[in-house]
Amino acid sequence: MIRAQQVNKFFYAPHKIHALKDASLDVAPGEVVVIIGPSGSGKSTFLRCLNRLEYADSGTITIDGDDVLDPKANINAIRAEAGMVFQSFNLFPHKTVLDNLTMAQMSVRKRSKTEAEEKGMMLLKKVGIEEKFNVYPNQLSGGQQQRVAIARSLAMDPKVILFDEPTSALDPEMVGEVLDVMKGLAKEGMTMVVVTHEMGFAREVADRVIFMDAGCVIEEGTPEEFFSNPKSERTQTFLNQIL
Ligand code: ADP
Ligand code: MG
Repeated sequence: MIRAQQVNKFFYAPHKIHALKDASLDVAPGEVVVIIGPSGSGKSTFLRCLNRLEYADSGTITIDGDDVLDPKANINAIRAEAGMVFQSFNLFPHKTVLDNLTMAQMSVRKRSKTEAEEKGMMLLKKVGIEEKFNVYPNQLSGGQQQRVAIARSLAMDPKVILFDEPTSALDPEMVGEVLDVMKGLAKEGMTMVVVTHEMGFAREVADRVIFMDAGCVIEEGTPEEFFSNPKSERTQTFLNQIL
């Protein structure tokens, strides 16, 4: 579903940084891949390159065979195919919950308002929050906002959802409700790439765990291999710090 090969990304301000160094990642349909690694290791940059929120400087990236780096590619279509869920929810604050779910369906997927609203309500029900369809995001808890953000991604019928630390901004009592929605999606066969510090989720849900450090993919393995028998010293050091 995703094939990223030898992706490089540089940033030039405030100073030159080689943020991704020949990073590669293959994700099969239905697979759940968790990416872990220290702050600044390039995890967000990698995710953002996959759906072209950042334009990679070199390498190849395809999503279900479509060339993400083709200058002629439709960026909105790419971002609909590879939805992103952010740490900070990123809902439109001046739009109701249901409007947040219908806008891109109408503009990108060309659905009628009725069709988009039906799908929106169905997805709000799925994430357990249908009664809030008519409120504004700031009237919701963080956990509820994040569930709306997940529903908004799903509304586009994405081929894959990229999660960038989806629970890091939440109060602890709300982490579980968001992880439960994500576990449900994994069970239904959604292809997911998840940057997270939730090691319980990684152990339980991931098919594969990837460790990144200093812009490089250092190692990958099943959760079993990865947590009980990490190969690289850098992975061992990181795991010792967080576990
Ligand atoms: P992570 O998500 O693993 O914490 P990031 O991908 O956010 O790491 O960052 C990787 C490196 O790239 C860091 O050194 C960070 O400061 C830098 N970086 C990320 N985004 C930008 C940007 N838009 N402009 C300049 N530097 C950036
Ligand atoms: Mg990050």
